[in-house]
Amino acid sequence: MDKLFAQQLTRATRADGEIDLAVLEELVVAAYAQAERDRRLIDRSTALMAEELEQLNRGLERVVEERTAALRDREARLAGQNMLIDTAINNMPQGLVMFDADARVVICNKRYLEMSGLRQDQVQPGQPLIELLRYRTAIGTFSGDPEQYIRQLLAAVARGETRTVEFELAGDRTIAVTNRPRPDGGWVATHEDISERRRAEKKIAHMAHHDALTDLPNRLLLRERLADTIAGIGKRKRAAVFCIDLDNFKTVNDTLGHQFGDGLLKYVADRLRACVGPGVTVARVGGDEFSLILPDLVHDADCADLAQRVCEAVRTPIELAGHPILIDSSIGIALAPDHGVEPDELLKNADLALYRAKADGRGSYRFFEPSMDARLKARRALESELRQALIEGQFVLHYQPILNVENNAITCCEALVRWQHPERGLIPPADFIPVAEEIGLIVALGEWVLRKACADAASWPSQIKVAVNLSPIQMGSANLVPTVIGALAAAGLPACRLELEITESVMIQNTEATLAALHQLRHLGVKISMDDFGTGYSALSYLRLFAFDKLKIDRCFINDLSNDASRAIVRAVTDMARSLGMITTAEGVETAEQFDHVRLLCCDEVQGYYISRPQPLAMVHGVIAAYAPLRAKSA
Ligand code: C2E
Ligand code: MG
Ligand code: MG
Repeated sequence: MDKLFAQQLTRATRADGEIDLAVLEELVVAAYAQAERDRRLIDRSTALMAEELEQLNRGLERVVEERTAALRDREARLAGQNMLIDTAINNMPQGLVMFDADARVVICNKRYLEMSGLRQDQVQPGQPLIELLRYRTAIGTFSGDPEQYIRQLLAAVARGETRTVEFELAGDRTIAVTNRPRPDGGWVATHEDISERRRAEKKIAHMAHHDALTDLPNRLLLRERLADTIAGIGKRKRAAVFCIDLDNFKTVNDTLGHQFGDGLLKYVADRLRACVGPGVTVARVGGDEFSLILPDLVHDADCADLAQRVCEAVRTPIELAGHPILIDSSIGIALAPDHGVEPDELLKNADLALYRAKADGRGSYRFFEPSMDARLKARRALESELRQALIEGQFVLHYQPILNVENNAITCCEALVRWQHPERGLIPPADFIPVAEEIGLIVALGEWVLRKACADAASWPSQIKVAVNLSPIQMGSANLVPTVIGALAAAGLPACRLELEITESVMIQNTEATLAALHQLRHLGVKISMDDFGTGYSALSYLRLFAFDKLKIDRCFINDLSNDASRAIVRAVTDMARSLGMITTAEGVETAEQFDHVRLLCCDEVQGYYISRPQPLAMVHGVIAAYAPLRAKSA
């Protein structure tokens, strides 16, 4: 029985046990009414709940929609970013591969595949590094021991250290691999092809150590090799350094042009390479200067043999661009450790020996001797004394008269410089002019000579000219013409009373600037003479370039006038000069016999001890005036 009905029955049962039906009915009706009320209540709350649920559903749907949209959005953004990253890593010039903490591939780019020679399927995620390296070793894109490489790499990653290793591969390729640790214990390896950079660096290093023309080691590399050689000298063995200089190279270069000179230097370089054995360094250390290092020298004779071979190899005649060339070399040799244990000291000593070889007649070799050093010191002292001498006015001019053969009168006096040394007395120009030329002092000294000679000549009779010698270095100076103008102006001397003497070497250099200067001087009215004619290296072709006023026939021809050939030469010169409108002066006429010869050979003028030695200024007037008796003597 229903529990509620049982309760209603109980409540409707009276004390005598009879059921009061009216009460029961009342109770049942009330129960139904209550049930109806409850049902309505339930219905209402159910409807409410349903409504709430629907609202909730709608809310949830919105949230889901929003979240889905956000997710899609993020997905799209991520896809975009991934594409960017993908484009970036696949377009970077470096190969990139990422590894996890177990040394397995995470990702790699295309460049890595290209550089490593691996296929995409060989570099899948999870692939162990060791397998990649073994394969790369087999195909030559990895050099080294893979196991050892990985050991060192893992140790560096564990220390959080970025490490770069360079691999030299076949085909002159260099790959730099940089491994950067990641926070998760893995690392990123970037592979960069630095072959071009390394090649450029090697080229620069080569250029810094080699001569561009001959590709021989230069002075820098020579010094390094020499230092290494010295460091390796044993008890029994020594080493030798040669300084080799080509004789008269400058003349060849100046006459035939720089291109020709370059060709000759290359030729000499090849010959030197060919005549030395392995282990010998051949270097070019300057214009026409070469050097050799002969290591492991046991006998001095080996050194002398090599020097002889070098001289002969260089001397072998060659033909370059249709020109037959014969060039000699001089060699200075210093031995280590005997003559020094420092590269610079050895090179300096070999240079001193070279200096000596040149002085002793070229085309030969000399070993260094300690006395050569003393000579160098003396030379340095001379240089500084010379500079001081100019400042202190220790130079003087002597004048040597020049006689006109036809009218027997002095026409000109040549200014010849001397050094009035406070201790050593009067020093002749041959002892200091070459040094003054080498150290550039000749320009200032030459200017002093010009000014003094013009000033002195201004006091002479107006028909007497003054001749001044010009060094080739002065001819090369841009200041020459203004200096001459200044000297004439300061002395008040007419330009036509000045003669400038130049030598054939000036014409060999024959630059346009030289010719322009000569023309300007000529334009001023100054006379130009060719001094020491016949002693130069060059052919006579330069006589076509400039019309000289005078040819001074060198003393060496005059010395020898008893010889038919010498007379024929002088005659040819005087004939040629006359046809070119030049006058001739015979230099160094010492005897009456020579005087008669040159007169018969039609020389216009005579200079020499027979007429007068060079005289101090104070004596010049006397010589000019006292010359009249000579007219009688030669008549
Ligand atoms: P140079 O111009 O040919 O001068 C002639 C040289 O021959 C002078 O020598 C003179 O003393 C010498 N001499 C003259 N007659 C005779 C002779 O009969 N017999 C012999 N044996 N010698 C004779 P010096 O004065 O010693 O000058 C030598 C050279 O020095 C000159 O040769 C000239 O080239 C150079 N020189 C002299 N003074 C100067 C100068 O001021 N500037 C330049 N750049 N060079 C100069
Ligand atoms: Mg002269
Ligand atoms: Mg002369």
